[in-house]
Amino acid sequence: MSNSEVMEKIISLCKRRGFIFPGSEIYSGVGGIYDYGPLGVELKNNLKKEWWRNMVWEREEIVGLDSAIIMNRRVWEASGHVAAFTDPLVECRRCHQRFREDELPKLPIEKKEKMIDETKEKKSKQELLYIERAEVFCPNCHSPINLNIDEPRQFNLLMKTQLGVLEDEKNETFLRGETCQGIYVNFINILNSMRTKIPFGIAQIGKAFRNEITPGNFTFRMREFEQMEMQYFIKPEAKIAEKWFSFWKKERMDWYLSLGFSKEKLRFREHAPDERAHYAKAAFDIEYSAPFGWKEFEGIHNRGDWDLSRHSQFSGKDLTYFDEESHTKFTPWIIETSAGADRSTLFFLIDAYDEETVGKEKRVVLRLHPKIAPIKAAIFPLVKNVKLVKIAQKIAADLKSKWPIFYDESGSIGRRYRRQDEVGTPFGITVDFDSLEDKKVTVRNRDSLKQERVNVLEIKDYLENKIEAR
Ligand code: ATP
Repeated sequence: MSNSEVMEKIISLCKRRGFIFPGSEIYSGVGGIYDYGPLGVELKNNLKKEWWRNMVWEREEIVGLDSAIIMNRRVWEASGHVAAFTDPLVECRRCHQRFREDELPKLPIEKKEKMIDETKEKKSKQELLYIERAEVFCPNCHSPINLNIDEPRQFNLLMKTQLGVLEDEKNETFLRGETCQGIYVNFINILNSMRTKIPFGIAQIGKAFRNEITPGNFTFRMREFEQMEMQYFIKPEAKIAEKWFSFWKKERMDWYLSLGFSKEKLRFREHAPDERAHYAKAAFDIEYSAPFGWKEFEGIHNRGDWDLSRHSQFSGKDLTYFDEESHTKFTPWIIETSAGADRSTLFFLIDAYDEETVGKEKRVVLRLHPKIAPIKAAIFPLVKNVKLVKIAQKIAADLKSKWPIFYDESGSIGRRYRRQDEVGTPFGITVDFDSLEDKKVTVRNRDSLKQERVNVLEIKDYLENKIEAR
């Protein structure tokens, strides 16, 4: 299967089976905006719930927050976004489309030589000079682009919005471009209300908005997306920062692996100093080997004291921390883990996608970890017999109070299994005529295809052990 085929299959599966739909589709959609369907919302919610459990519930020193999407405009001035939250873009001279420099493909030598020959015939000296030094070309119209002449320029990515009915500059603010700013502006509130002691963290999951110039690769680059961010406040010392930075790198990678990602498809990539964001002292990405290349879906950054110092300067409020042990006051440094809920959902889907032949039949199977699978179990009466249906419906009703469960009595049993394999349901439970006698049902495992007889009264515990196993 080629890489583009994989993406086509994922996108089609997502639409056909209710995971992800293009936003406002009946109006021809909006670029970079998507809606999650019934199965997609379960999958993404599971992922967020697992993140929250791991980051907040299971740790003594991390607390949660849900700050507003709209903040005082000054927040974005302090954060540097109004001035610097931009992607430098290159504009193609011919088609006037704009691209990030790193999206421009290299111009092959043969192609360049051919263009030079053609231009020589036209005798346009200026054009010739332009092509001779061009290293890349436009992905849209294939014209050569000379970055020595057409340098990347800045465009702001923050989405503007208006507060109140009066349309003047005073009322203008932004939809948040990242969730972490809501954490910094609540630093003192959390300190005072929770009596937290350094080191401690604040975690938040929420929407962020960016006017991405070239949204694409399905939900990889969106204009409205969700982040799962945690800011860890530490003493302002390089050694301590290094220690926590390594700690969080490992923790985050281990978390993805614990949810079933293929190890060989994940890697860390360190940012070169000139690539780092304006605030970062150190930055590593966790990348996934997607069909469209190695791509970031989480960043781990040492932000130093940049954020709290800036907010203190812009708000005029004291955002220092008093350390009772050493009787000193300081501005804490921050180690941040910043993950995308949509990107990781997409990568979990891609990683889980599999096709195989069982017997003579092809089956598509999403090998999602049971913890994140949208439906935990499907219940089938073998045939539409009143007695079997009654038992199956009772089991389904009983399990539904705990998990999303799917009941299906239509079509052949093989077809019903395949429909559930395709959406990643880890367990298929079939009630057959033997069940009437032995009070047991057959549980089929999605991955191994092994079947086990389990007592009806024990089915809940059985699933609980398999799904919640740590
Ligand atoms: P990129 O270089 O791909 O634009 P970034 O470095 O700007 O990403 P961060 O600001 O570090 O990303 O955001 C942290 C995480 O938020 C990313 O790793 C990603 O998972 C998610 N994210 C950022 N921008 C988008 C987007 N446009 N669509 C979906 N997820 C995004």
